[in-house]
Amino acid sequence: MKVCKFGGSSVASAGQMLKVLEIVRSDPARRVVVVSAPGKREKGDDKVTDLLIACARDALAGRDSSADAARVVARYESIRAELDLPSDLVEALREELSARLSAPKDHPGAFEDAVKALGEEFSARFCAAAFAARGLPAVYVDPKDAGMRLSEEFGAAQLLPESYAALKSALAPIPDVVVFPGFYGYTASGRLATFSRGGSDITGAILAAALGADTYENFTDVDAVYPVDPRLCPEAVGGEGIREMTFAEMRELSYAGFAVFHDEAVMPAIRAKIPINIRNTNRPDEPGTMVLPRRKAVPGRVNGIAACPGFGALYVEKWLMNREVGFVAKLLSILADEGVSIECMPAGVDSVTVVFRDEAFPEEVRSRAFARIERELHPDHISYSRGIAFLVAVGEGMRTTVGTCLHVVTALSRAGINLQMINQGSSELSIMFGIREVDLQPAVQALYREFFVS
Ligand code: ASP
Repeated sequence: MKVCKFGGSSVASAGQMLKVLEIVRSDPARRVVVVSAPGKREKGDDKVTDLLIACARDALAGRDSSADAARVVARYESIRAELDLPSDLVEALREELSARLSAPKDHPGAFEDAVKALGEEFSARFCAAAFAARGLPAVYVDPKDAGMRLSEEFGAAQLLPESYAALKSALAPIPDVVVFPGFYGYTASGRLATFSRGGSDITGAILAAALGADTYENFTDVDAVYPVDPRLCPEAVGGEGIREMTFAEMRELSYAGFAVFHDEAVMPAIRAKIPINIRNTNRPDEPGTMVLPRRKAVPGRVNGIAACPGFGALYVEKWLMNREVGFVAKLLSILADEGVSIECMPAGVDSVTVVFRDEAFPEEVRSRAFARIERELHPDHISYSRGIAFLVAVGEGMRTTVGTCLHVVTALSRAGINLQMINQGSSELSIMFGIREVDLQPAVQALYREFFVS
């Protein structure tokens, strides 16, 4: 049995919804369909969720929200007309939107969530109606009735664990295709709450885990995950996508900027060890990328290269540091007291470098931390440099192969790129290379050619 999630571009128009119908119809294992709100149809178009958020914020600020509300209704009306669905579907949306916009505003977060979830709700209602009208028995299921219970953290809700059993007993017996809206659920007090943006991925992963699906299919608008970010290396679009990767490889890649889906979003499926298949709604015959608990690693194979700018490095040097018990522990506890999260920590005999996301270590925090480090650790030298980017070469196959690092370094040196840092953990799943931000694009292109162009 498969749970399939269709993102905003897959339900952006009537034509896209019909593609979804054909995909679901073509495989009887596709029993549960999770949908996002309609996304952009073309560049410059609106996402329904953005329009709904604008409506909610206008209403909260006492401004007129009718123009954006009318655009939401018009968007659904054009889908309805093309799909030839009954007009009471759009009437129901119009009424519900106006009711939610005039609801009490004592809790702004809950108010905004109730409005912004309408995109998913009506996307699911429309798909269920369109499927049924075209001979595919399908039902819309309300997250409230199905037991999707979330915490009271509006806009960033978390699943309450008792939901798994409730969802299973509500959904498993349904004989028809279940069409379920992504992105939201209900709190114990009965208020609607949404996950963070992009949260329909989370809903899909939760349903896959609750139902013990064989696969969680995540349909989007790319054929596969590219081995490098195509924004940095446009030629990757014409090349091969990644066929298979492990959960651990995905985690390493998305850490440094791979953006097919948020790694935390698919946690429920990963915990339940359910394979995830990323596929393209517009090219459903493409096999896409499989993300698996385990795979047979190809020796030497770098599976993907992530690249991420925006890092800074704190450099602390002290003669005979290596003999001073607790030096690094004290340094880290100063940073922890400041609430700074660290990314990695390459060290030498008498020096240690602590790498941060630059935005996590702002000027004011930095000067307090510097003062304490000076006072409590008496370093010989301390400095902070910004403008660092990381390239992360990821591949399970590196573990059993000698020379992958050399391979990367050689390609980078041929491209004239200076390495500022190298970091490899003992998992040998990834190697991180710190370079100057300005070198990021040429570095990614050099590595793409080296590893992925035969
Ligand atoms: N529609 C929501 C958003 O735009 C959730 C989603 O698409 O996953 O964030």
